[in-house]
Amino acid sequence: MNICPLCNGFRELLLYCENCGGKLEDKGKMMDYFGAYSPYMEIDLMKRIDGYPSTLSRHECAHLFYCLHCGNEQTQFIKE
Ligand SMILES: [Zn+2]
Ligand SMILES: [Zn+2]
Repeated sequence: MNICPLCNGFRELLLYCENCGGKLEDKGKMMDYFGAYSPYMEIDLMKRIDGYPSTLSRHECAHLFYCLHCGNEQTQFIKE
């Protein structure tokens, strides 16, 4: 069984916004967001995941990072 260190609080990942250089906040596992927001948001997330190899087969956990300064969102794949 693979465990994501971020989901389990073992580790914190410090990332910076590619737009403004501000600190990004971990919004959690991306899969948790499906169905949680408006249809527009879901489609947007689907598009972003589309084209990536399956995160399940690679044992990677997709996390959504959000910039508190400019509202930029970045997806980061965490090795489990
Ligand atoms: Zn995770
Ligand atoms: Zn930013």
